[in-house]
Amino acid sequence: MEENPFISEKYAPAPESTPVALKEAYGHFINGEFTEVDESKLRESRNPASGKLLAMVSEAGGDEIDLAVQAARRVYEKSWSRLAPSERGKYLFRLARLIQERSRELAVLESMDGGKPIRESRDVDIPLVAAHFFYYAGWADKLEYAFPNRKVRPHGVAGQIIPWNFPLLMAAWKLAPALACGNTVVLKPAEFTPLTALKLAELVEEAGFPPGVVNIVTGGGTAGRALVGHDNVDKIAFTGSTEVGKQIQKALAGTGRPYTLELGGKAAHIIFEDAALDQAVEGIVNGIFFNQGHVCCAGSRLLVQEGVAGELTRKLEHRMKTLIVGDPLDKNTDIGAINNEPQLNKIRAFLEEAREQGLEIADGGQELPEEGFWCRPTIIKNAPQSCRIVREEVFGPVLAIQTFRTPAEAVEKANNTRYGLSGGVWTDKGSKIFKVTSSVQAGVLWANTFNKFDPTAPFGGFKESGMGREGGLHGLHPYVRLD
Ligand code: NAP
Ligand code: MG
Repeated sequence: MEENPFISEKYAPAPESTPVALKEAYGHFINGEFTEVDESKLRESRNPASGKLLAMVSEAGGDEIDLAVQAARRVYEKSWSRLAPSERGKYLFRLARLIQERSRELAVLESMDGGKPIRESRDVDIPLVAAHFFYYAGWADKLEYAFPNRKVRPHGVAGQIIPWNFPLLMAAWKLAPALACGNTVVLKPAEFTPLTALKLAELVEEAGFPPGVVNIVTGGGTAGRALVGHDNVDKIAFTGSTEVGKQIQKALAGTGRPYTLELGGKAAHIIFEDAALDQAVEGIVNGIFFNQGHVCCAGSRLLVQEGVAGELTRKLEHRMKTLIVGDPLDKNTDIGAINNEPQLNKIRAFLEEAREQGLEIADGGQELPEEGFWCRPTIIKNAPQSCRIVREEVFGPVLAIQTFRTPAEAVEKANNTRYGLSGGVWTDKGSKIFKVTSSVQAGVLWANTFNKFDPTAPFGGFKESGMGREGGLHGLHPYVRLD
């Protein structure tokens, strides 16, 4: 076979052979170009499935954040805020098309940097990324219809911070509406998964955006704090843990600066006796094992009506054994690698505690690869409400099962949480769907399906799951000032 210069074992391990061109080391993307690499401020980005080094990435402090904010401010004042809205739209359409053209490469890189199965990055994440840009590109010159009889103005410079579970998709959720509304942006990806955002920076350059409209600055919590604390940033958008969300709220208190927070979740997935059980099992599997359970809206609490609890649990256990855990780049893989070591340790600590508490635990029994970070699909049967594994977000492939007798009890249990992001219900009866979806306090509720996303649908939580909505018409609100 002829040798492909782009493919080395390091960059495209078998069986996925789509070439991914990566630099050895990345600077920050500021004012339309990559900054020079400062060797003393580099951090590794590794493949969690193999431990292999993918690239070195720069670590921002306050100075780099400041440079990026200044660049965003300059171009906002000089041109971006004055550009005809239809022109703004054209840049976004161009970027959306470039994402589509490069979608396979982006999918492979997303799976390499973050460990998610290629089937998910290829069929879910990246198509949704493009769809978000197309969708908000369409709004750019129609804001007067989104907000009739109001004067609509952008905020100015938006500071955006995202987590590691859907790296490029979260970047799209943040960038697309902000830019469509006429803001400029400084985006900080998560330290574990910076590579697709840096690849996106190359596409931003290729799309010809005026320098400074999109700035991508990599780094950890220090960079995030500097962005939140910068007094020349007009709006903050954060997706991540409830804990850091609260810190950001404190930091912004009294500044008058608007912010949106998309935080954690502990969704109830409610299965009634009259549900199509085999389909429900597929929904449950998707709800908790999709993306290794690193999903804010994961169906991590299963509430089953007593009459079918035994049967459903048996079916689920059987199905769990058939799931393929392993190489994220293999198209048959169902469950990829845990995104990072601290997260794996966190999941293990939850399971250890559940074991010590004497809870009944079952897993799929798969053989796990030797290198990398892995966790089998796991269920906790009959988990009592008092356990941490029922109350807290595990953010891994671990499902806590509880039972209920009546619809009212199901709703009461579903709402017995400090979170309120999502939920699901499976039943044959429309009346039960109506009862549950109108009584469970959650931003998103699915009926007879789970984890379905669309750029036209608003997404966001109640209670400690955050404030504000992303997606759809609602997703424009955080990025405009209305007079
Ligand atoms: P995280 O620890 O809160 O980090 C999120 C982002 O904030 C990262 O970029 C992080 O940088 C940065 N950061 C850390 N400390 C900061 C600080 N003090 N000030 C400003 N920024 C700071 O969350 P994660 O562990 O990456 O992601 C998992 C969490 O995200 C889960 O709780 C999940 O439910 C939530 N999530 C919510 C949604 C939603 O839409 N509701 C979507 C996806 C994920 P580092 O990467 O360097 O830590
Ligand atoms: Mg990585």
